Amino acid sequence: MSKKDKKQVLIIGSGASGTAAAYALSKVDDKFDVHVWEAASQAGGVATSEKIDGPGDLSINDGVQGGCPTYRNTINLMSEFGLSGSPVHMMISFGKGPTAWTNYTRTELVKSLQPEIKKFGRTLRIINKLEFFFLFIPISKVLRWFGYSEEFCNHMVFPLTALFFGTGNQTPDVSAAIVARVFLDDDLRLFDYDSECLLSQSPEMFAFPNLRDMYATIISKINVRFFPNRAVASVVRQGGKVHVKDEKGDSATFDDIIFTCNAETVLKVLHEPSWIERRALGSVRFYNDVTITHEDDDYMERHYELHKDIDQYFIRTDPTDPSKLEMSFNLSNYQPNLKTQKYEAGDASGRNIYQTIFLDDATKEIWTKDEIDPSKIRLVRWWRQFSHTWRHFAFAVPFMRYLQGKGHAWYAGSYTLINTHEVAIVSGFAAACRLGAPYPFPEDKLASDQFDQYLLLIHGKARRTGCNCATLKSIFLAPLWAMLAGLALFLRLIMCCMGKDV
Ligand SMILES: Cc1cc2nc3c(=O)[nH]c(=O)nc-3n(C[C@H](O)[C@H](O)[C@H](O)COP(=O)(O)OP(=O)(O)OC[C@H]3O[C@@H](n4cnc5c(N)ncnc54)[C@H](O)[C@@H]3O)c2cc1C
Repeated sequence: MSKKDKKQVLIIGSGASGTAAAYALSKVDDKFDVHVWEAASQAGGVATSEKIDGPGDLSINDGVQGGCPTYRNTINLMSEFGLSGSPVHMMISFGKGPTAWTNYTRTELVKSLQPEIKKFGRTLRIINKLEFFFLFIPISKVLRWFGYSEEFCNHMVFPLTALFFGTGNQTPDVSAAIVARVFLDDDLRLFDYDSECLLSQSPEMFAFPNLRDMYATIISKINVRFFPNRAVASVVRQGGKVHVKDEKGDSATFDDIIFTCNAETVLKVLHEPSWIERRALGSVRFYNDVTITHEDDDYMERHYELHKDIDQYFIRTDPTDPSKLEMSFNLSNYQPNLKTQKYEAGDASGRNIYQTIFLDDATKEIWTKDEIDPSKIRLVRWWRQFSHTWRHFAFAVPFMRYLQGKGHAWYAGSYTLINTHEVAIVSGFAAACRLGAPYPFPEDKLASDQFDQYLLLIHGKARRTGCNCATLKSIFLAPLWAMLAGLALFLRLIMCCMGKDV
């Protein structure tokens, strides 16, 4: 195929989703001429690495940290480039003093809440059976309906939910159906529910290798044209083409465009978005969060039950408002190069590099951020992240399928479903697949099952065409999905009339 016959595709952004889309399209480079415009100076998006001061000349991954073995699409993509994660067993310390518990010891709190832990298993199964209904109900409300104590909610369920979804101050609003999935979904389950202790396993996860290098390697080895420091400023869909201008005023025209920047940026740059685009993308709520990378042992001792050589994750419940949560990591027990440095190296050994994440700056008056000794802070980075409240699953997710491909625009990114690296990768593959690129890992059952589920939910399509189970499922589900979207619109209308926050 000559160059002029190839489809000209622009991918906006090169985070996990943009890179995945670029990779899948580049595998059929006789069909596509792929450009990637990236606002930052390198690929990776929130998967970043930075050098930090102090002995050891250390480089840390300061955004994305790790994943679980079910991240099959991420793992396969890494191995295509000779990359792999490092295994790590997840050790978590929740609470402090009388409210402390872990996934590897049986504390007083766990013993005293045993009857509720047992009952929680039944509740999860009910939520899971009636998933369509519970999708719209926040976990805090469901726990109240089922009569759980404040102690169980505040010190066990909310901290656990914050751990899974990184939701901090929005934790009580997370959809109950999504919480149940974490325990009961056969493919995605991270922990088995334990009727005695709630959590009794330290499941195997993996820590990413240096993410800056990983994304630089992938982008440099695939056949796409990568433009760093080129932020898109406007996108106009006209005459069956997509006309794009960057911030310097240079423009280019493409046959198709894949947006992998966040939903807010799409609405900022997209000329005349449709009603449904404004509704769906405008319903993704973003918050300003900050991560402080530090070496303040005293701060950690004050707020967490600190087992310095064991835990990777720490969850703190605010004693004055237990629905508010903060989260920290000991990166030195997590990231492979820091672990080696901590346990094996000479003069720099013993460094514990912590990271504390403070979520939603609208609630910053309760943050403990200012208690961290400034002389021990190594890095401060702000993020704009969306939240998994039930509103996301009611008012954004059900509408994503109706946006795809309209005016030759496609939407990928973790915000289209759930905020994980794996979902971001799958979303990029899905957009590429809709343009005509084959799904890259059909031989891996779990990877392709996850891809098929995403494609069905967010694009309303099956991977294979013709008369087969998946296609029939997509046809039968279409009216049900339209009903769900209609119900969500109705709910939104009622909430607006009642003056409630949507
Ligand atoms: C601090 C943090 C830690 C996380 N940790 C984990 C973890 O440990 N495990 C896990 O599974 N998930 C984690 N996540 C979630 C998950 O990794 C992310 O959801 C996923 O990596 C996001 O990928 P993305 O491609 O959707 O978006 P992004 O990574 O945000 O990529 C979007 C890209 O678009 C670019 N862009 C924006 N505007 C423009 C424009 N106008 N023109 C051109 N380019 C533009 C951006 O620069 C960026 O590179 C974490 C997220 C954050 C923020």
